[in-house]
Amino acid sequence: MDNGIKIQRELVVNWHITEACNYHCNYCFAKWDKQKNELMNDENSVSKLMDEIQKLPAILNGKYLTEFESIRLNLVGGETFLNIRKVTRIIHQAKQRKFSLSAITNGSRLNNELVTLIANDFNSIGFSVDSLDSPTNIKIGRTEKSGVMDTEKVLRDISVIKELNPSIDIKINTVVSSLNQSEDLSAFIDQAAPNKWKVFKVLPVITRENEVSQDDFIEFLERHSKFENIISSEDNDEMTDSYLMIDPIGRFFQNSILGSGYSYSTPIVNTGIEEALNEINFDPEKFHGRYKTSRITMQEVF
Ligand code: SF4
Repeated sequence: MDNGIKIQRELVVNWHITEACNYHCNYCFAKWDKQKNELMNDENSVSKLMDEIQKLPAILNGKYLTEFESIRLNLVGGETFLNIRKVTRIIHQAKQRKFSLSAITNGSRLNNELVTLIANDFNSIGFSVDSLDSPTNIKIGRTEKSGVMDTEKVLRDISVIKELNPSIDIKINTVVSSLNQSEDLSAFIDQAAPNKWKVFKVLPVITRENEVSQDDFIEFLERHSKFENIISSEDNDEMTDSYLMIDPIGRFFQNSILGSGYSYSTPIVNTGIEEALNEINFDPEKFHGRYKTSRITMQEVF
């Protein structure tokens, strides 16, 4: 476009398929009342949800004058790849509807099978990495019985995925909190060579613990300024009400403007996606801005 405005034609829908995670990061906002009936457990419900998601571009184009033509389903968690059988089923259904696929993972469960699946079926894959330092990862909660997060393994997996699919987009997501604000991740980013590095300021949705000041957040960004071409960052205000996010039981949810926690729609498969969309505090201006700017600052949650 000659005016520098790039029209976003791919609608990104973030589905948190599960709350379960092998880690327990203290700022994790993937918490939805420990729902037992996660939609991913039932193939029929997954199919219904996918059918509803498929209607979204037409609905949004009608309402907000967007020009979406396709859907990217971004699978997030909890840990997206904890249950390989169920996530494979979702991937299969998404491909049947010609959605493109991306996911965010902490990388801990990736094995040869998953690495190959990601390389073959995904347009992009994001790894959440906050620290290279084991004591810091332990403080953050990125640890389990079998050990603390292994960032070297993440680098090896990225290398194999790129070898199998050189055109896949690699993303790194980093949450900056009081625990890692003074860290230098340059060596890791140099090796991972991601297409995009998303740097988030810890979001006080669930707890105010480990909050970081705006000055310290900016200092973190400045420390990594040599990556400015691939860094995108977003502060808390920009992150409110401007994502399409679906929780593990299939409801739209958003950060509550009243403070901590979330607000929810009725489950999408019960009410239909148009009605569910009407029920959330969705900001069309921010949404419109997110998808109609020449430089799209952030598109996913993690
Ligand atoms: S790895 Fe992600 S989903 Fe798991 S506890 Fe940490 S922030 Fe939450």
